[in-house]
Amino acid sequence: MEYQSNMEENSNLKLGQWDVEENAHYLQCQNDACKKYFFGRKNKKYCSGKCKIKANNELAAQRLNEIKGNIDPIDQINRFLSKISKGKDERSTIYLSDYPVETQYFNVPIKSTVNYKDSPGWMLIGKFYVKKIPNHDRVDFVEM
Ligand SMILES: [Zn+2]
Repeated sequence: MEYQSNMEENSNLKLGQWDVEENAHYLQCQNDACKKYFFGRKNKKYCSGKCKIKANNELAAQRLNEIKGNIDPIDQINRFLSKISKGKDERSTIYLSDYPVETQYFNVPIKSTVNYKDSPGWMLIGKFYVKKIPNHDRVDFVEM
């Protein structure tokens, strides 16, 4: 089933929220070049097949660059978080959609997971503890 896309942001709805009338979740396309709002299945990432292909191609190109050693994602994340960090031991929150370019490296699979203050699901990225909050476009981080 295809849902309506190409919508303006609806201030009455939160991202991920179930909408009774549409019988679907309110979502935003994760293709950075698109970012349209649409209704769809809870775990749907893209508003269309076209956006899915485009985003996957970009991801593949980015990974290729990383394999070639042109970009070090850890270094990129570290530099970015250092700029906006509130300081040691202070937990900060950012929304990925506010920093689409700078946060693209958060999509790179990083295996080093740690417990931070007995809370699971954190990754140690350089000098930061980082936690991606699933389905919420949100990343929390703390400087070590
Ligand atoms: Zn899209």
